[in-house]
Amino acid sequence: MNKMSVKDLKDLYGKKVLVRCDFNVPMKDGVITDENRIQGALPTIKYLLEKGAKVTLCSHMGKPHSIFSAEVKLNKKDKKKVDAGETTADAIIAKAKADEPKKLTLAPVAKRLNELLGGKVVFATDVIGTDAKSKRDGLGCGEAVLLENLRFHWEEEKKDENFCKELAYDAEIYVNDAFGTAHRSHASTAAIVEYGIVKTAVCGFLIEKELSVMADTLDNPRRPFVAILGGAKVADKLNVINNLLEKCDTLIIGGGMAYTFLKAKGYEVGTSLLEEDKVAYCKEMMEKAAKAGKELLLPVDTVVADHFPDPIDEKIEVKTVPSSEIPSDLMGMDIGEKTRKLYAEKVASAKSVIWNGPMGVFENPTLAKGTIAVAQALADVYGKCTTIIGGGDSAAAIQQLGFADKVTHISTGGGASLELFEGKILPGIDCLNEKN
Ligand code: AMP
Repeated sequence: MNKMSVKDLKDLYGKKVLVRCDFNVPMKDGVITDENRIQGALPTIKYLLEKGAKVTLCSHMGKPHSIFSAEVKLNKKDKKKVDAGETTADAIIAKAKADEPKKLTLAPVAKRLNELLGGKVVFATDVIGTDAKSKRDGLGCGEAVLLENLRFHWEEEKKDENFCKELAYDAEIYVNDAFGTAHRSHASTAAIVEYGIVKTAVCGFLIEKELSVMADTLDNPRRPFVAILGGAKVADKLNVINNLLEKCDTLIIGGGMAYTFLKAKGYEVGTSLLEEDKVAYCKEMMEKAAKAGKELLLPVDTVVADHFPDPIDEKIEVKTVPSSEIPSDLMGMDIGEKTRKLYAEKVASAKSVIWNGPMGVFENPTLAKGTIAVAQALADVYGKCTTIIGGGDSAAAIQQLGFADKVTHISTGGGASLELFEGKILPGIDCLNEKN
């Protein structure tokens, strides 16, 4: 990567630095339930504080309801309820208005940061208001303030120029260390630099690490390079499949998306998840793989059931059938035992592996075996192979299984890493200053 990082900045003493972090941590009743993202941001913040900078931290938290935005837009779940006549849009918005300042405040994050950083962090109860300004004015060298949730302002996502100016305030340097939102082009992630408001713009250590591991592996993988893709749909990963096929030696497919590939191969897939309109695309990808001499592996056997589990952890009856013989009334939910073995063997002989998306309906213990087998296969090659987990469900699975320290890298950004896998340039990184 040729972008400047905080390490390239000289003389930070007394400098006013605005740092975009990703503090979008899971919370329950005001208590942080997983502080990985806070821990991930610490190296950059510590470095700046030790150098005597005056640091303003900012982040979003969750998806505040549109009551804070210019347009009133209900999310899918709420819209369903309104359509079913269970409630009205007005009632939903009124409730959101009452709840969100409490539910989506960054105050608990500020408290935790203050504990971790020895009492050096204060919290501003607004983003660009009087509290933020007075706390920013009052910062001493080696002190920090965390602003309230950026997305309490609709202007954040709409890249409003005035908002960018107010957010920058007197910052001389901008640091982006929020990999999880680097694929978004918002006020705090890119526009503040794109509009020329803050001219010195560099990345933090977290982004630097994410890029050096992921981009380097994609561009210069140690071979054989195996890419494993799962998850629900082909449609969500069209460009990822295409780009990875060009880079890797073996592309392994699992999860719901495998059935559209199996259909493209000429198999019947029963009541499994099937995207009819993507069958032709899957055929094209299989032809592309064959032409380029690459392996594209599909499940050879499949765990099937007669319905989708409801509730998701329902105790469900299953059996395993060859992928070419899925009965017309049954649904494919996970990769079978032979496939697990085949995929694990491929991982065992690889030198680089990237993985995104579960191999089955892993939320159900009976249907999690394929996902666990892949996680185990990655853990087994620890130290011999570069293993990268592209965030999201696969990262959660690796963590739940206790294998987090048995892989080379777990990305903090599911969406951002998928866009890297697609070969896209991320706006939050593109806007930063080049080295030299
Ligand atoms: P994604 O968000 O695309 O990574 O997809 C993750 C979701 O795919 C999880 O909620 C899984 O339960 C779901 N999934 C995986 N395999 C299947 C399958 N065979 N049928 C239906 N859903 C699946």
